[in-house]
Amino acid sequence: MYKCKICGNELNIIMSFGKMPIANGFISSISDDEFLYDLILCFCPNCFMVQLGETVKPQMMFNDNYHFISSTSKVMAEHFEDMAKEIIDHVSDKKSPFVVEIGCNDGIMLKHIAAQKIKQIGIEPSKNVAQLAKEKGINVIEEFFNLNTAEKIIRDYGKADVICGANVFCHIEDLNSLFAGINLLLKDNGILFFEDPYLLDIIEKTSFDQIYDEHVYYFSGLSISELARRHNMQLADMAHQDVHGGSMRYYIKKDGLGAITDRAKECLSQEKAFGLQKIESYLDFKDKVDRICQDLKTTLAKIKQESNRIAGYGATSKSTTLLNYAQIGPDIIDYISDITPTKINKYTPGTHIPIRSHEFFTADNPPYTLLFAWNHKEEILKKEKEYRKRGGKFITYFPQVSIE
Ligand SMILES: [Zn+2]
Repeated sequence: MYKCKICGNELNIIMSFGKMPIANGFISSISDDEFLYDLILCFCPNCFMVQLGETVKPQMMFNDNYHFISSTSKVMAEHFEDMAKEIIDHVSDKKSPFVVEIGCNDGIMLKHIAAQKIKQIGIEPSKNVAQLAKEKGINVIEEFFNLNTAEKIIRDYGKADVICGANVFCHIEDLNSLFAGINLLLKDNGILFFEDPYLLDIIEKTSFDQIYDEHVYYFSGLSISELARRHNMQLADMAHQDVHGGSMRYYIKKDGLGAITDRAKECLSQEKAFGLQKIESYLDFKDKVDRICQDLKTTLAKIKQESNRIAGYGATSKSTTLLNYAQIGPDIIDYISDITPTKINKYTPGTHIPIRSHEFFTADNPPYTLLFAWNHKEEILKKEKEYRKRGGKFITYFPQVSIE
């Protein structure tokens, strides 16, 4: 029996994916012992938070071997530049504004704040990416954010006008401690905003590969309102973002600072109309997941018979859930092309598909390529124009399997 990590209520199980390796745990040799855990998606009927039943210690996921570097995508770089502009607009009338980003990664967003000479601090526990942020002139505290970190920042720098985070909050298991720290660190008229993959997109598109160890939570406006309320804060606004297959940016203020916006009200009513507040609405999710996996395996088996060669594109954390749950291994996918230097020549967690460089992929010119990085599809199709001209085809699988 699993308990809600926010309110302590008993959780309902949406679906179990069985034993899974760490999604970002690319291995150097196949003999490596791999840590496995039960990947179980749950729903709290009391506070509406969708979350993992079993979680993995953060130190096992976000360490010096953390392979996710934000700045490798041009679309994401532009997205974060826009986010920085929003922050700069927000603090433009302040005397000496102070911005704190939780999980600043390689500084993809905060470098724009630093360039404006605005006081900033990034919190980043993964030393290798923190180093990249420091090289961009960003002040970095290399630890996990909690109440102690908040106290230390207030002591050394004062309270913050803006606290933000992108694709980080859903990773943090102890959200109550995070929000307590934020409430302490934020000025009374300050604003918190953060964005993460959006539950309604995941459920509607059945994009189940978003579900893996690092994503402890799958937020909606309904669950975030409840969480904020528990910490004397309120959901003030929501803005949908097209990145990562559909994300939501949530704006939180301290209690008593005005009404919720119309667009946020609209989002909340859409969530209610879909039924994100009831377990019944999630019960056909497993059937949909199984159907996509079956269709994909049938398609791949047919192609494999005909052409004998299929590559993968983008050794993403997301691909770990898909490959392990659908049991797609090196007998079907010959290798996966990736541009992250630390992943090349390693193997995918659990399924042990070799990872090769993009140069290898281009020289090999496989007839079919399974696109794991589907959230960057437009950018990738543009980049791989030549490959497609030569007859190369991409296979995608959300919301259904297709070849183009
Ligand atoms: Zn709960």
